[in-house]
Amino acid sequence: MARPPAFEKPVYVVRPLLPASDDYAALIREIWGRQWLTNKGPLQDQLELALSKYLRTPNLSLVSSGTTALMLAFRAFELSGEVITTPLTSPATINAITWCGLTPVFADIDPVSLTIDPVAVAQAMGPRTSAIVPVHIYGMPCKVDKLQEIADGRNLRLIYDGAQAFGVEIEGTSILNFGDVCILSFHATKLFNTAEGGAIAARDREIKQRIDALKALGYVDETTVALPGINGRMNELTAALGLANLGLVEAERSGRAKVADVYRSRLAGKPGLSIVNNPDGSNLQYFVIRIDNQACGISRDLFCDRLKEFNVFARRYFYPPCNEIPFYRNLPSSDPQNLKVATRVAREVVVLPHYGALGTVAAHRICDMIDYLLDA
Ligand SMILES: *Cc1c(COP(=O)(O)O)cnc(C)c1O
Repeated sequence: MARPPAFEKPVYVVRPLLPASDDYAALIREIWGRQWLTNKGPLQDQLELALSKYLRTPNLSLVSSGTTALMLAFRAFELSGEVITTPLTSPATINAITWCGLTPVFADIDPVSLTIDPVAVAQAMGPRTSAIVPVHIYGMPCKVDKLQEIADGRNLRLIYDGAQAFGVEIEGTSILNFGDVCILSFHATKLFNTAEGGAIAARDREIKQRIDALKALGYVDETTVALPGINGRMNELTAALGLANLGLVEAERSGRAKVADVYRSRLAGKPGLSIVNNPDGSNLQYFVIRIDNQACGISRDLFCDRLKEFNVFARRYFYPPCNEIPFYRNLPSSDPQNLKVATRVAREVVVLPHYGALGTVAAHRICDMIDYLLDA
């Protein structure tokens, strides 16, 4: 087939959701009028309440990033020893574990959901295990019932990394309401963003109160420092962006759903190429495919390199898997023999451009390019 024309400008995997600058400026003028920049400001309170309603979760606490959210969650439960987690995640998950003085223990993933395999979790358990930290990777829900069962049986904390799972539900219940806590990231690359930011949803009111103290240097009132906290607050400029963006999320979700429909219909049934997204299409954070290096006639890495020639910058999230990062490679659980599924998946995944403003015409063009590459 004829070589399709390249895009004139680079097309990245996401484009950050941004409000009209006038809408943001109106909120910024409020901040100037009030002269209050951080420390539980009115806009952070307003956003906390609005997100709590939108995401249907009762005990939400806004923080400065997803990474901080993880660290605050670990400290809120005073975890020690080992925590069992997945290698197929952002280094943020594993780095946060390590920054809290905990040892990550990797368990393999399920070949379909790509989330941590409960059987592997049970096998990774040891006398020093204090928590399980599963990740709703690409917004795909973990096996929450099985994981809760394991956690309950051993009195372990269950701390979900839901950084990629904004707005995802499990049979009508917010994904944030499973486990002891679930964290979110509002980084610029996420479906809902505040440039930098994050949140923790806690099952218990008491845990939210601990987290609220921990994120404010441990202060619980004017003169009482009750806990060794850090600065994990969300400031007013950031909260303003969140408030302006929240009104745009529904439109962004439907825009992404249209793009995903094009990808799903055009890419289905191609030999060696499989679509990772769950069929109900709830994971609108990323559109993820797998390239079977043998069956496709082109390696995953070459596929990505050749897409760049068309100005399409697909990403290999998450390659390398975290167990192959140099400073984690020597952990006993990092042996690829122990992580066969994750080792393979990390060599096959490709995240395609997926955002509302991409539009269906561009999505079709990207599919033309993929047709061309797989044909050649
Ligand atoms: C983005 C992300 C994080 C980190 O969030 P930040 O807000 O960038 O600190 C953690 N875990 C996963 C799975 C992520 O995708």
